[in-house]
Amino acid sequence: MRGSATAGRSGPTLVPGTVTLVGGGPGPLDLMTVRAHRALAQADVIVTDRLGPGPEAIAELGWCAEVIDVGKHPGHHPIPQEQITALLIEHARAGHAVVRLKGGDPFVFGRGGEEVAACRAAGIEVAVIPGVSSAIAVPQAAGIPVTHRGTAATVHIVHGQGPPSAATLAALADGSVTTIVLMGVAGLERLVAAALAHGTPASRPAAIVESGHTDRQRTTRAPLGGIVAAAREREVRSPAVIMIGEVARAGLLLPALPSEPVGAVQVDVLS
Ligand code: SAH
Repeated sequence: MRGSATAGRSGPTLVPGTVTLVGGGPGPLDLMTVRAHRALAQADVIVTDRLGPGPEAIAELGWCAEVIDVGKHPGHHPIPQEQITALLIEHARAGHAVVRLKGGDPFVFGRGGEEVAACRAAGIEVAVIPGVSSAIAVPQAAGIPVTHRGTAATVHIVHGQGPPSAATLAALADGSVTTIVLMGVAGLERLVAAALAHGTPASRPAAIVESGHTDRQRTTRAPLGGIVAAAREREVRSPAVIMIGEVARAGLLLPALPSEPVGAVQVDVLS
């Protein structure tokens, strides 16, 4: 039998000596798929990420797999990607059923593709279990639908590192597109300046959701022209998802309360 996991109707069965990339979702254990839970229960070794369910949450599940945390980065020195893949390969070669648990979905800005390729290059079989991506689920946590009939029919998902591409600038300028930015807090000011310079109206609604689906969730909303100041004032921190587009308008799905000033910075904290 080939493949690290045999996917039947009831999901995969992990095979010793293989690696399974598992999408962990945005954080809470119950936002992982049933298939992901089954894979974790069958793993000999679980290599966890900085985002998604952390090692403490995994330990709470009571499974006795060895948990290796490669997400901690003391002094902001992340463990190099080559070291992570080397670890996966080493444990698989030792005959373990290895789970690489990643935040969100493994194939959305998670370097999952690189891990798959590196394992395969080393002759290790790899399977992938999808996850709930923060790109969709974190806007949802703040009540923002990424598409909405009559408002937004296209979603542009981009990372915020480096100058925005022509495609991103066109998406931002198009009122029918929702632009979702991951890893975008540090580059927010550059992104907004470029968007405004390339024809996006300053009135375009924007929202930033920090630590979505966790008890630290916080939403900051402002028109694009005011979002940098709002983020600075509130000391917005990573991890956060930035949404720019008409769907981010306050009161899209619910009429705004009469006391709520239109266009004001609105902050809501999940209780
Ligand atoms: N594979 C992941 C994304 C990895 S890139 C996924 O599909 O979700 C890391 C970025 O994801 C962070 O910088 C942040 O922009 C976003 N992110 C992940 N989890 C988040 C959460 N719970 N709240 C807010 N942003 C999150």
